[in-house]
Amino acid sequence: MAKSGFEREERIQFDLPEAEFSTLAVRSGQNRTMEGEHSDAIFPTSSFVYSSAREAAARFGGEEEGNIYSRFTNPTVAAFERRLAALEGAERGVATSSGMSAILSVGLSLLQQGDHIVCSRSVFGSVISLFDKYLSRAGITTTYVDPKSLDAWREAIQPNTKLFFLESPSNPLAEICDIQAIADIAHGVDALLVVDNCFLTPALQQPLKLGADIIVHSATKYLDGQGRCIGGVVLGSHQLMEAIYGFIRTGGACMSPFNAWVFQKGLETLKLRMDAHSRAALEIARWLQARPEVENVFYSGLEEHPQHLLAKKQQKAFGGVLSFEVKGDKEAAWRFIDSTRMMSITGNLGDVKSTITHPATTTHGRMTPEARAEAGVNDNLIRLSVGLEDLDDIRRDLELGLAAV
Ligand SMILES: *Cc1c(COP(=O)(O)O)cnc(C)c1O
Repeated sequence: MAKSGFEREERIQFDLPEAEFSTLAVRSGQNRTMEGEHSDAIFPTSSFVYSSAREAAARFGGEEEGNIYSRFTNPTVAAFERRLAALEGAERGVATSSGMSAILSVGLSLLQQGDHIVCSRSVFGSVISLFDKYLSRAGITTTYVDPKSLDAWREAIQPNTKLFFLESPSNPLAEICDIQAIADIAHGVDALLVVDNCFLTPALQQPLKLGADIIVHSATKYLDGQGRCIGGVVLGSHQLMEAIYGFIRTGGACMSPFNAWVFQKGLETLKLRMDAHSRAALEIARWLQARPEVENVFYSGLEEHPQHLLAKKQQKAFGGVLSFEVKGDKEAAWRFIDSTRMMSITGNLGDVKSTITHPATTTHGRMTPEARAEAGVNDNLIRLSVGLEDLDDIRRDLELGLAAV
């Protein structure tokens, strides 16, 4: 017997609150239209229409749920937000135009003049510029701490501390923050812990389960995974996300439907990719470690990494990014990079293509030499984002670099 219209609709809108990660990654969040499309639909429309003036008034007045204008209601963006929220175990996600606007929205919607942030000193460079150059104008101050020292986090607390911010593992030196312990310290003074989960994604680390209050993402990196779009997301409780949503709706740093669709498709292969990136990076880290031209390898998957056990406890694997110091100076590092043939010389990471960077003169080039030295970003340091090319080809390319050191 043919299914009734009602049963068919139930199946079309089927969702999976109890399902496992891999299932959620390919099936959650989608809101099929009555066309019955199998893949996610994309809604590249700026506005939406109503059947009557009464309906328009009800939507605008908030008495009726539904789409109004794509700066704050778009079905493609909403589908992506629901899927990533399911993967992070968050009540809600709010998509933004970039990773930086995700962090900006946290600062401007949850803090006010006179508030104080305690921030890991090993965070994405633009985050430091954002806090010191721009949030500071709103009277919000920041203290930077050694992310590995719980005492440093405790000692930086002021009576006006409202937010803790960290990234783990850090870029480029793979320092690990004890998320659970830092969450406890933050909550002891009623501050919120924000974790930038860009490097591991929910496939490998779920900060909310470790006590964090808010997750921010640069979707630009592994969520897309193929280097196509810029985007960001903030995730957390309904209550906190209502404030973020209000800011994005008004401030306008929203995600485009096309980008949301790309990220939505990226999530479907996220776990496969993260597992493959992690396996490849671990192999390469071990291989580099055994080479006489290499001085130090920084990767939390190595047993020699001083925080390997902590990484193992809070992560499912160790991700695709590693860094290493070659014997020699900046010139040796540059010769290494210039001698590779396949890997892309670019500051980006989290791509299926392997990328190679000299942090001291690119991503960390705007820091003072003293700050760089304190952060451990030396002139002979090279960062790799290990892609999904054949491992033999990656090793062959690295071999060319090693020969030039
Ligand atoms: C790239 C990056 C950001 C910024 O994201 P954009 O999408 O480039 O704005 C923030 N945090 C981390 C860890 C990043 O790697």
